[in-house]
Amino acid sequence: MRSSRKKGLIVAEQSAYRIFDVRHVGKQILSPHMARITFAGEDVAAMATFAPDQRIKLFFPRADGTLPAIPNRPDWYDLYRAVPPRERAPMRTYTIRSLRADQCEVDVDFVLHGDNGPASRWALNAQPGDRIQISAPNANYRGEVGGYEWQPPAGVQHVLLLADETALPAAAGILEELAALKPRVDAFLEVPDEADRLELPSWDGLDLRWLVREGRSGENRAYGDGMIAAANQVELPRDVLSGSDAEALVEPDNDDLLWDRASSATGGFYAWVAGETGAVSRIRTALVKERGIDRRLANLMGYWKLGRERE
Ligand SMILES: Cc1cc2nc3c(=O)[nH]c(=O)nc-3n(C[C@H](O)[C@H](O)[C@H](O)COP(=O)(O)OP(=O)(O)OC[C@H]3O[C@@H](n4cnc5c(N)ncnc54)[C@H](O)[C@@H]3O)c2cc1C
Repeated sequence: MRSSRKKGLIVAEQSAYRIFDVRHVGKQILSPHMARITFAGEDVAAMATFAPDQRIKLFFPRADGTLPAIPNRPDWYDLYRAVPPRERAPMRTYTIRSLRADQCEVDVDFVLHGDNGPASRWALNAQPGDRIQISAPNANYRGEVGGYEWQPPAGVQHVLLLADETALPAAAGILEELAALKPRVDAFLEVPDEADRLELPSWDGLDLRWLVREGRSGENRAYGDGMIAAANQVELPRDVLSGSDAEALVEPDNDDLLWDRASSATGGFYAWVAGETGAVSRIRTALVKERGIDRRLANLMGYWKLGRERE
């Protein structure tokens, strides 16, 4: 008894991220390709989130139905990695859409892209009571936790937001946060079809464009095409065009996601871009190489990769 209480204390104090045992308690279909699943669990009282793009890891049952059973210990990640890949619970990255720690509940918005991946398949079939595990920030940890990139400069005046449906949960949270400040925002949100557009805040100064891949007139654009066109055309302030080293742009390896963090967001402009990795790479070329925007002002993040499974 004493030793398990001591172990609990160690996890509480030492792990920036900890394991949460949760069960599905609600599902809301937001659109044809998006479902919000509410998870509950006693420990969610100790979950924390620091930004609208706070990332978390979800662990799903294996193909044979075995539930994930990662111990909540400071070395949980090493223990997870020590299991041979075929025997591990599949792990995928998601965003905290809404955390109600006082009610021990957390919402995650899932893109329903088919039954070709363990996460989307689980979300399509999930029933109340189904259990998974989540690794998320530990509210009792006293150091810097990280796991988010949305860190606009104080007094930001102009935000460029480009997101596909996987980054829509984060983008929606970003817009809800900005609604209080009302800066100029150019937001381009790409979704599979017309009915996937969601209700979002609006204010003078927010120019929100939905980019629909399968339009009413039968057009069928490739992932990212709409966002790439927007990156080529959007009006950029002159003072963000600088001599950052565009030649040094490095393409991610086959198995990597592109992940460029803004490093010097001190001016009035800030960009947050996330979506399919190949598309984000072309957006980076358009913004940084062709249009000369200072790459230190932009987060450019591959959230998934076409044709590849992603942990
Ligand atoms: C920081 C971060 C935050 C994220 N937040 C969210 C979030 O809140 N909600 C969300 O839905 N996703 C989010 N994602 C994306 C999610 O992690 C990936 O889409 C993941 O691949 C889904 O896992 P899966 O098991 O469904 O498919 P996988 O097993 O990874 O892939 C199987 C196949 O499905 C394809 N695929 C994967 N995702 C999609 C998609 N969206 N559309 C079409 N095909 C796809 C793959 O290319 C592959 O061919 C986030 C990713 C990152 C890095």
